Amino acid sequence: METKIRIGISSCLLGEKVRYDGGHKLDSFLADTLGKFVEYIPVCPEVECGLPVPREPMHLEGDPARPRLVTTRTHIDHTKRMLVWASRKVAELGRDELCGFIFKSRSPSSGMERVKVYTDTGIPARTGVGMFARVFMESFPLLPVEDEGRLHDPVIRENFIERVFAFRRWRELLAGRKGIGALVSFHTRHKLQVLSHSTKHYNELGRLVAHGKGMPVRELYSEYQRLFMEALKLTATPKKNANVLMHIMGYFKDRLTGDEKKELLENIELYRTEATPLIVPVTLIGHYVRKYDEPYLKEQVYLRPDPAELQLRNHP
Ligand code: SF4
Repeated sequence: METKIRIGISSCLLGEKVRYDGGHKLDSFLADTLGKFVEYIPVCPEVECGLPVPREPMHLEGDPARPRLVTTRTHIDHTKRMLVWASRKVAELGRDELCGFIFKSRSPSSGMERVKVYTDTGIPARTGVGMFARVFMESFPLLPVEDEGRLHDPVIRENFIERVFAFRRWRELLAGRKGIGALVSFHTRHKLQVLSHSTKHYNELGRLVAHGKGMPVRELYSEYQRLFMEALKLTATPKKNANVLMHIMGYFKDRLTGDEKKELLENIELYRTEATPLIVPVTLIGHYVRKYDEPYLKEQVYLRPDPAELQLRNHP
């Protein structure tokens, strides 16, 4: 890839001292490890909408569906200021061609879910969405988003980063000449990746592409993108991955030696029962793909959806 993947991120997660108390919330995995593969576009809604550092802390209050952003002690309402800035900011971010966004969890401005909303009952409901995060997600509903708290879970982390890289490949497709041929080639490379997330979407995308010739290209691409991103959001469980691995093994069944077949089956089973990580059978299969020079499998994104250095498939 010529240019780095662009991801929006809450500024404080990169160590910028923009929090209400003058501090930061540096996340070293995001800043140092993932940061080697992406270009971050830092966004601090509270500072960028004109508030100082340090500042009085804020919280959400009122109707959890459309809360107000209010300072906790002096009750200054910053809702309008934040919404006016947010609608300008999303227009600007739309031009940055982002492939994802990582939000700071629990923030009344940046939190993407389960943010506290203070209601008349006095008991906060944990059902809010940060004010900027809401505007952002409503503007870019198909873009992969997560928060740094959830990204500590290896399954969520693997899923999110896989979606970010998939979105980048989708953007590359959009940048080229659009047509059924380009979409079929994209679909062919992603078949096993989609299957590892959802058989239903695998079938629906297959049908869509098969009937694509009769559809306007814009409509075809838009429907494909919706189904594709919806599929990848579903977790690729050990059962689903083992199914794909068996499917892949089918391509070699006449060429693998008895020992090779036995070793591969054992490794798939160890993975399916969660005794080894996914990287073990995938590495073995990668070896056979090269050894037996299987062209369809060689181009499958499933075998290398993102950089191996991130070690996303190494968790149990
Ligand atoms: S959580 Fe959001 S608003 Fe708060 S300091 Fe971080 S980036 Fe700024």
